[in-house]
Amino acid sequence: MLAEHLGVPKIATGDILRLAVGAGTKLGLEARRFMDAGELVPDDVILGLVHEALQADAARGGAIFDGFPRTVGQAEALQRMLSADHRSLDAVVALEVPADAVVERMSGRRTDPVTGAVYHVRYNPPPPDVADRCVQRPDDLEETVRHRLSVYDAMTAPLVKFYEDAGVPVHRLDGDRAIDEVQSDIRAVLGR
Ligand code: AMP
Repeated sequence: MLAEHLGVPKIATGDILRLAVGAGTKLGLEARRFMDAGELVPDDVILGLVHEALQADAARGGAIFDGFPRTVGQAEALQRMLSADHRSLDAVVALEVPADAVVERMSGRRTDPVTGAVYHVRYNPPPPDVADRCVQRPDDLEETVRHRLSVYDAMTAPLVKFYEDAGVPVHRLDGDRAIDEVQSDIRAVLGR
């Protein structure tokens, strides 16, 4: 929603990896075992993908990162990549959601493999004509989600302080609300 509103591409490393997994490329095969286990894909792989996405013409006027960076190493490499290009981050948005709500949201998530649309069995059920073909992401199984949360706490949560220390505006928002409310808050803090 934000990418569309701002007219810039979304660079979502998870989406790029899932495309590679679906296409059965070497990258996909390499990434898949980490993803299915709820582990992080190694930094050098991720950084190669982001570097390529940032060079694309579409990203010349800016981009939104989704699911990236996830480690301090990735964040440091991103700073180097951007400054080599005389660019910088405008802001960081941290959506805060209690662990139990994350588990409920992710374990109920279903994706339509044909359109890419994302649904939730309870909050946003797929329409009857597509429901049968919708699938659950292997890493959205409850046990894997709980593991991903522990990886998040250990590896990704420290990024909030990293960016605060680096002087990048960090906006912590309550993500445990309706999509439209969260979206309008994001636009408000970004002033766009
Ligand atoms: P996501 O769709 O952002 O939840 O990502 C799904 C999975 O892809 C993660 O659990 C990781 O295995 C992998 N992944 C996505 N982005 C990254 C990243 N920036 N660093 C490491 N692994 C990632």
